[in-house]
Amino acid sequence: NADLAMYQAKFHGRDNFHFFNFQLHKDADTRMALEVELRRAVQDKEFTLFYQPQIDFATGRILGCEALIRWKHPEKGLLSPYFFIDTLENNGLIVPVGKWVMEEACRQCLIWREDGLGRVDMSINLSPRQFADPDLLEHIQTVVNKTQLEPNQLEIEVTESLLATDFDYAVTLLEKLQEMKIHIAIDDFGTGYSSLSYLKQLPLDKLKVDRAFVMDIPNNNDDKQITAAIIAMAHSLSLKVVAEGVETEDQAAFLKSLKCEIGQGYLYGKPMSAEAFAQLLKTERSLA
Ligand code: C2E
Ligand code: MG
Ligand code: MG
Ligand code: MG
Repeated sequence: NADLAMYQAKFHGRDNFHFFNFQLHKDADTRMALEVELRRAVQDKEFTLFYQPQIDFATGRILGCEALIRWKHPEKGLLSPYFFIDTLENNGLIVPVGKWVMEEACRQCLIWREDGLGRVDMSINLSPRQFADPDLLEHIQTVVNKTQLEPNQLEIEVTESLLATDFDYAVTLLEKLQEMKIHIAIDDFGTGYSSLSYLKQLPLDKLKVDRAFVMDIPNNNDDKQITAAIIAMAHSLSLKVVAEGVETEDQAAFLKSLKCEIGQGYLYGKPMSAEAFAQLLKTERSLA
């Protein structure tokens, strides 16, 4: 069916734009069916987390990972969040699901540490709706305490859209996270519409350069210039830079030449199960 075909196209990293069109033009019946299914999925705990390595460009070593949610759909198989995250955001289910993501990712960090795999920094995506949850900070604190995570092992990724609705509220919350020593990254940087002046008003640690700019390096000169400008600006604000969607050695070489600190992308590993990530850590940290 069309749903599945488009999803598979997306999941295999092609045809993103078609997929987005498809999402937007989905008819009301399909949307309703997805809502009903998602409510069931939350009840039946059909979600799982995949982990994608983040690499220190200077040493080539794994610093940590980003937790990325997947839906183990009983018939359609493993579904990417592109398929359902907007719906969760719109109906508010992202709040309980996001809490589960936080608990599960931190629990996984504890398991890896107990298994002797060493320190793994963990990046977690938070959507605007999750920020509106009055329990957010207390919940994060509880999870951090329970899993004995170093707070600075945990990084929250937010997009510029968070800042669009209530900037002052967003600043207050981010400052509280900073007081808790949790790191903050702006995700998909360069694709939002906010003014750049907000950058210096926020307690940020990192910018993540959107994959859209990295994708056509080194062939597209504009993208090279934009990426170089973003990295230079981030460094002038003492922020570290993560490049998203690094797929080729050429891209990595270009980013390294600009002193970009961290790389994430298929070149270093696709998002993978906790078991596969543990295996990768064992191999690279010579524990195998
Ligand atoms: P994101 O946070 O920007 O995550 C990066 C996305 O790029 C992931 O898609 C990842 O699989 C994909 N990616 C990474 N490297 C490459 C590459 O080299 N090539 C290509 N073609 N793609 C690459 P994914 O896992 O489908 O997630 C999509 C978005 O869903 C995420 O974008 C994030 O905004 C959202 N999301 C995922 N998990 C969560 C979650 O637990 N909570 C919330 N609130 N949002 C989430
Ligand atoms: Mg992210
Ligand atoms: Mg991103
Ligand atoms: Mg993205």
